[in-house]
Amino acid sequence: MSELRILHVDLDAFFASVEQRDRPELRGRPVVVGGDLTSRRGVVAAASYEARRHGIHSAMPLTRARRLCPAAVFLPVDFPRYREASRRFLEILRRETQVVETVSLDEAFLDLGAQVADPPAVARRIKRSIAQELSLTASVGVAANKLLAKLASEHDKPDGLTIVPSEQARDFLDPQPIRHLPGIGPAAEAYLKDRGIFRIGDLARIDPSVLRPGLGSRAEELVRLARGIDGRRVIPFQPARSLSEETTFAADLHDRGRMVECVQAFAAQLEQRLVAAGLKARTVTVKVRFADFRTVTRSFTRDPAIAFARQLAVRGEQLLLAAVSADGRPVRLIGLGVSGLVSRDHPEQLVFPFEVGAGGDPFGPRSIRR
Ligand SMILES: [Mg+2]
Repeated sequence: MSELRILHVDLDAFFASVEQRDRPELRGRPVVVGGDLTSRRGVVAAASYEARRHGIHSAMPLTRARRLCPAAVFLPVDFPRYREASRRFLEILRRETQVVETVSLDEAFLDLGAQVADPPAVARRIKRSIAQELSLTASVGVAANKLLAKLASEHDKPDGLTIVPSEQARDFLDPQPIRHLPGIGPAAEAYLKDRGIFRIGDLARIDPSVLRPGLGSRAEELVRLARGIDGRRVIPFQPARSLSEETTFAADLHDRGRMVECVQAFAAQLEQRLVAAGLKARTVTVKVRFADFRTVTRSFTRDPAIAFARQLAVRGEQLLLAAVSADGRPVRLIGLGVSGLVSRDHPEQLVFPFEVGAGGDPFGPRSIRR
């Protein structure tokens, strides 16, 4: 028996690694995979480690990536190939347990249960299978809960294996910056830094009630996570009613161009999540919260359902501009959501047939938000 029952497995620079695997001439070169190379829009979906050395990272506008490294090889997103690799990746994971929660095409949590004697050996077997069968590398974290497993997999990339037994959790967590915790966006990070809280260890020592004025009801949960306590279960299958991405800005935003960039980045992330789940969306919703906390949402429902970032971004931008143009005030939060989800292979079927029409509010209580 082992307490180390949770694994987080993350393929390294997934899209870019698939391209380098299939096109040997790209190995060792900076490779950037991005949505739409023909227009000036679009964001980086994945960057090889060689490209990351030039400061390129996912969700960065492609124009910026080009400026940082003009010599990089820029490739369009090839979802059919990534989906096939993802399918085989999940097959490898499900040989070990059926309790696999997919986070995206290239990332999943496993709960091995309490009976597995040697979880690190399972992690090594998974890494070996991924190398032998997919010619890709994965970074794996092994720990007692999701938080520690996820931070462990990120600790040593690429091709890492990090095991964090509970008695070492404090030493592992304390020195890490607070933004490594899930749920800490730019606004929460700025709020905590103003109070001298920079590291997870700083946050772990705080009485959460002190942080209520700035963090509200999340204060308790964040301090608990900082202390390495995470009760979230690995949920093997979680059908999504809706998906959304949102962010609160550290400083209120006036610049329309940056708002549009934000929607484009969310569109790219939603595309990945929709593709990973085999879904398309009929409804796109934008949420805008102004500096005075007034919140508006604007939705658009139309057939056929869509899943590509470019399509999501076009609709999202129209909705965004409609939501903000009525109002010159600065914006503190922007969200992009999709609902009215249909199966990619059977687009005539709503995933949740009882939610007709707009298909539910992607920012509502039953949504899966990040
Ligand atoms: Mg990855």
